[in-house]
Amino acid sequence: MSTSPRAAAHRDSSDQQVVIVGAGPAGLWLAYELAVAGVTPLVLERAERRSPHSKALGIQPRTIEVLALRGRHQDVIAGGRPLPNWHFGMLDSRVDFRGLPTPFPYLLAQPQTVTEELLEDYAAQRGVRVRRGHEVVSLTQDDGRSVTVHVKGPDGDYSIGADYVVGADGSRSVVRREAGIDFPGFETSVYGFLGEVILDRPPLTPGFTALNEAGRLLVIPLPGGRFRVTGYDPRNQTREPLTLEELRDASLRIAGTDFGMRDPSWLSRFGNATRLASTYRKDRVLLAGDAAHIHWPAGGVGLNVGLQDAANLGWKLAAVVQGRADEGFLDTYHAERHPVGRELAEHTLAQTALIVGLTPEVTALRALLNEAIAGTPAFTGLLAGKLSGLDTAYPSEDADAHPLTGTRAHDPEGDGLFPLLHDGRAVLLMMGEGPVDAEVTAGAATVGIAVHPSQLAETGGPAWSGVTAALIRPDGHVWWATGTPRSGAEFTAEVRKALESLPAVF
Ligand SMILES: Cc1cc2nc3c(=O)[nH]c(=O)nc-3n(C[C@H](O)[C@H](O)[C@H](O)COP(=O)(O)OP(=O)(O)OC[C@H]3O[C@@H](n4cnc5c(N)ncnc54)[C@H](O)[C@@H]3O)c2cc1C
Repeated sequence: MSTSPRAAAHRDSSDQQVVIVGAGPAGLWLAYELAVAGVTPLVLERAERRSPHSKALGIQPRTIEVLALRGRHQDVIAGGRPLPNWHFGMLDSRVDFRGLPTPFPYLLAQPQTVTEELLEDYAAQRGVRVRRGHEVVSLTQDDGRSVTVHVKGPDGDYSIGADYVVGADGSRSVVRREAGIDFPGFETSVYGFLGEVILDRPPLTPGFTALNEAGRLLVIPLPGGRFRVTGYDPRNQTREPLTLEELRDASLRIAGTDFGMRDPSWLSRFGNATRLASTYRKDRVLLAGDAAHIHWPAGGVGLNVGLQDAANLGWKLAAVVQGRADEGFLDTYHAERHPVGRELAEHTLAQTALIVGLTPEVTALRALLNEAIAGTPAFTGLLAGKLSGLDTAYPSEDADAHPLTGTRAHDPEGDGLFPLLHDGRAVLLMMGEGPVDAEVTAGAATVGIAVHPSQLAETGGPAWSGVTAALIRPDGHVWWATGTPRSGAEFTAEVRKALESLPAVF
């Protein structure tokens, strides 16, 4: 981070509690989450208008749940196409999502353009302003109590102060660079290709794939009649811009046809550079989304992990900004999300090996894994858990903590627990029937309280059996749970202690 301010044309007098750099999916959802919690951030976005390219095409089950926690899932579901299974490393055997413990057991096919438009609309409804055409060029750490953001705007340079700055500014994050956060990992060594085109003779199978020694090719229908033709061609490993002729030639060699492709609206390459920020927080600067982690876009997970970063960070940052939690509470964001970034890097690297490996050894490995997916439900469940995001948990280091601590609270139909979290507050669940003793909830002024039918005990898995009360964080993970009977002083004391340990939620 710069130590002396750049010469700026003027200082914007509207100093902010939080400035978010980047109006991609991660920045927009974080803005929404903060606004729900009562902190309206300023979002600075370099681009004058949203990218027209579809990029991410898949919304994973946990991401739909994250939206459902705020009652914001209906629009994506209405506009998307549910796919009951998904691929890992372009293996032939598909990973079945239908049995997943969620109200949304499918991958939702939806272009990123549509997702971003919805997220920006939700944020705007909560009063969030996105300043488009405003590029952050550097940051200055002032005195440990604030950050100055230097911006190149359409009307000239200016600077603006903020209590906290979040870099949601993508893979080449200026915020990350300026904060001096390392981004270790691997350089690009292989490239994939991608074209969005009209096909006069599209394949009959949606999601057509061709896999052979010539390379890999996948054809995905897009809304509006276009198709994404994407894959890996070992003969064309270059940074040079992709041309329609090259795409045609690759398609002919790999799939035996060019499908009558024409009129490209996007031709691009993507690399397998895989990097993970060494820390997600440095003083008053935080990172989320691609600014924190990059990888080969295999398995359709990048946008999803970014949105889930935002869900983890939003309520915590709001609590700190509003003085309801110490700044150190933000370290839990790094502690909980950095391992998720590491796992993301690992499984996308593994998928890349399966996609770009054309040797007999990799072909044999693919055959073995195809067999394992088709015949070993536990293995398929492991892959489904990673892709869907449903297995993400934040285990407690406290050996005495209840085994549910940090796990995702399950809501089988999405109509029990999720609506209780719509206003962004934590919820104290009293399992079973009957009124809640007023003495027990005397300290619970800042959380929602609900008597919950023992639905979770029946459907949430063995760990929920015998649970009498649980405190659910605003992001839908368990903060605390107990099996102590719901009467008597011991229970009251436990609930009070749990409520005191959770930073008050506005
Ligand atoms: C071909 C392809 C296919 C993909 N498919 C999938 C998929 O199926 N599923 C999935 O989950 N993910 C997929 N991804 C990944 C997904 O697109 C990214 O993970 C996602 O866009 C990251 O969101 P983000 O908000 O972190 O960053 P970005 O979307 O990169 O947004 C960052 C924003 O910050 C702005 N910005 C940058 N620098 C500055 C600055 N200095 N000042 C102000 N603003 C700045 C940028 O203009 C941009 O709007 C795919 C990616 C590609 C390329």
